[in-house]
Amino acid sequence: MLSVVLPVYNEENQIEKTVAEVKNTIKQLGEEYEIIIIDDGSTDNSWEVLKNLADKNAEISAYRFSRNFGKEAALMAGLSHAKGDACITMDADLQHPPELIPEMVSYWKEGFEVVEAVKKDRGKETSFSRFSASLFYKIMYRLSGFNLENASDFKLLDRKVVDEIVRMPERETFFRGLAAWVGYKRKEVYFSVPERETGKSRWSKIKLFRLAITAFTSFSSLPLQFVTFMGILFLIGSVILGIQTLVMKLKGWAIGGFTTVILLLLIIGSCLMISLGMIGIYIARIYNEVKSRPRYIISEKCGKDK
Ligand code: UDP
Ligand code: MG
Repeated sequence: MLSVVLPVYNEENQIEKTVAEVKNTIKQLGEEYEIIIIDDGSTDNSWEVLKNLADKNAEISAYRFSRNFGKEAALMAGLSHAKGDACITMDADLQHPPELIPEMVSYWKEGFEVVEAVKKDRGKETSFSRFSASLFYKIMYRLSGFNLENASDFKLLDRKVVDEIVRMPERETFFRGLAAWVGYKRKEVYFSVPERETGKSRWSKIKLFRLAITAFTSFSSLPLQFVTFMGILFLIGSVILGIQTLVMKLKGWAIGGFTTVILLLLIIGSCLMISLGMIGIYIARIYNEVKSRPRYIISEKCGKDK
């Protein structure tokens, strides 16, 4: 059986069409299937639309979050409720073309356990988004060793992989990274991103920034080691400067040196603050994990699992 996981946030005008296309594509495969839809606390009519869909289609089950917990939480919720032998995660806005599913499924049948859809091009995006995405993936690669450039959340995961991902206890997740971290036999398929049919991206810049911080901190502690590295550099500098100052003093050449003092104060001050901030980010993550609140709360269910 195949499970398709769709996270939905304010997609009242889109979701019916997406579900219809997904159903059509999978029906042609002749496989048994289920569609798991997670309503990530939509504020529009999405939930009513979903209830309606679930009433009419026996394969659909829908879960509603008690508020907006974010796409990452929605994906995890979808995966933990999916029962299929393979799970396909995809966006509900048709920016992940369902036409790719048959190809992904055929690779899975050949024995690949993770089939990832990789963006051939990033579609219509502002140059700022392009730049920040590419910077993000470069830093991510340096920090974690995983090259996620052009990766997407459109993936087919074998049951084994889903079980491993769902088993991970961390609260703040970065699905793309986790799906790479688990390993397994992998295959890439390529697609170009079509334009969004209705509405705008549901991701604000600030949400994306938070996701980037989660991604960096979940996959690397290098930034913390960087603090030590910076400290060592400063130590070397201060030994050199210290000797110079002493020599000047002994020889009686010592003069004002006001500029140097101010500059050193400013540089050291800002480096200290950056380092403290960096440590702070990790402490905040530890704090969030230690609180161990649930990743999400499901307030309503409908469809076959009710
Ligand atoms: N989404 C979600 N919760 C959010 C934001 C987005 O479940 O807080 C869903 C959204 O409904 C869509 C998918 O995640 O199915 C991708 O979102 P979007 O198309 O807005 O992102 P983009 O294509 O710009 O990456
Ligand atoms: Mg989209």
